[in-house]
Amino acid sequence: MSDHDFDLFVIGGGSGGVRAARISAAHGAKVAMAEEYRVGGTCVIRGCVPKKLLIYGAHFAEDLKDAKRFGWQVPECGFDWTVLRDNVLADVDRLEGLYQNTLDSHGVQVFHQRAVVTGPNEVQLADGTRHTARIILIATGARPAIPDFPGAEHGITSNEAFHLDSVPKRISIAGGGYIANEFAGIFNEFGAKVTIINRGGEILRHYDDSVRDRLLQISIKKGIDFRFHAPFEKVEKKADGTLTIHVTGHDPIEADLLMFATGRLPNSEGLGLEALGVEMGERGAIKVDGDSRTNVPSIFAVGDVTDRVQLTPVAIREGQAFADTQFGGTPRRVDYGCIPSAVFSHPPIAAVGLTESQARNKYGTVKIYTSDFRPMKNVLANRDERALYKMVCDSTTNRVLGLHMIGPDAPEILQAAAVAVKAGLTKSQFDDTVALHPTMSEELVLLK
Ligand code: NDP
Repeated sequence: MSDHDFDLFVIGGGSGGVRAARISAAHGAKVAMAEEYRVGGTCVIRGCVPKKLLIYGAHFAEDLKDAKRFGWQVPECGFDWTVLRDNVLADVDRLEGLYQNTLDSHGVQVFHQRAVVTGPNEVQLADGTRHTARIILIATGARPAIPDFPGAEHGITSNEAFHLDSVPKRISIAGGGYIANEFAGIFNEFGAKVTIINRGGEILRHYDDSVRDRLLQISIKKGIDFRFHAPFEKVEKKADGTLTIHVTGHDPIEADLLMFATGRLPNSEGLGLEALGVEMGERGAIKVDGDSRTNVPSIFAVGDVTDRVQLTPVAIREGQAFADTQFGGTPRRVDYGCIPSAVFSHPPIAAVGLTESQARNKYGTVKIYTSDFRPMKNVLANRDERALYKMVCDSTTNRVLGLHMIGPDAPEILQAAAVAVKAGLTKSQFDDTVALHPTMSEELVLLK
């Protein structure tokens, strides 16, 4: 038996923290958790889940237009943002309840207040009570980073985007990454005039050139405006509440709303970690080893606060591996190779493995196979939007090193194909598989 109040005290009830707490409790540990806001974390409360529901909502704009070409007599359709917003927020409440139930049913004691670490084995809650634990796990996630310039306080972040009173007529989105491109698609489909303001010359820098170029072309065609090499100077708020956004090298941009999507910073400050000598890396990321352990042996960290890979499924794996290793008697480490990822833009992007340029840098020569096609639904809908699938292969062994897709349902298709890439299959093994016709995914076994 431990001399401490708990075997494990988890700070932060997001994807990583909840998984670690639940599995550790299932392994027999006495577990507590502190969460100052809502159980579920970024993904459930103000990230992946509500975002994906908005994506579904946004897609109806195109589906309703296309339906006419498929014989449906669609009357003039209006869109009521408040209905979608409230339904999405209600679903978030439902999911939060499920997360809380899971913790309760596993006997995890949840304190709905902020906690700080006051010793290697001690935490203090906001109400002043102190608890000891053999292990403390920091799973406090990340928060939106907002660039520092005059008038930046007039902008919002994705946190607030889910609660807007109405869809703005003109929205400027700062950043060219995941959140910027996903929300650009959402607001554009809802009828807003969208401008993406990017400090550099590229969107989605970590994705393969071909698919992000395709997204850029399609986005421009859909009416999204891009300002590249446009660092912020200042934002002025006028008496009527509208904004004038001044960026270097471009005319001022008039907007009703400015949203920052300029990366996310680890939530590691104000937790008492500095005083304990817990090592931090760049951007305040908590430094951990392969077992998610910090340099203070009783303190661990998982998820976005470690800034390894800021993706929910990765945080969940880190939480699971931590719990199995520390309390389950089955040590395991997360394998960070071949993590599939997706951008839920309009149309979406999905990828796994090396981009063409990464593969060329690593292997010298590589073989590239592509399919650049117009999905049959788009053809009948008169929608001039082409999908692009690209396979990057080792030129000697023909092993698939990377797969990159943009087109309808790309993330749904890529998840299955990622199994093959992760397993190290070759191009000829893809080709040996009979096509499933007529689908878009059959292009994966017909790549030239
Ligand atoms: P990203 O890292 O994807 O993109 C950040 C963007 O902001 C980049 O274009 C970057 O430019 C730019 N930027 C960074 N700092 C500044 C600055 N000071 N001034 C102006 N521009 C700046 O971050 P997001 O905020 O879009 O998302 C955060 C993270 O959340 C993602 O990295 C991802 O891990 C996760 N996420 C995942 C999603 C998914 O899986 N579908 C969806 C949403 C988020 P530059 O390219 O020059 O660095």
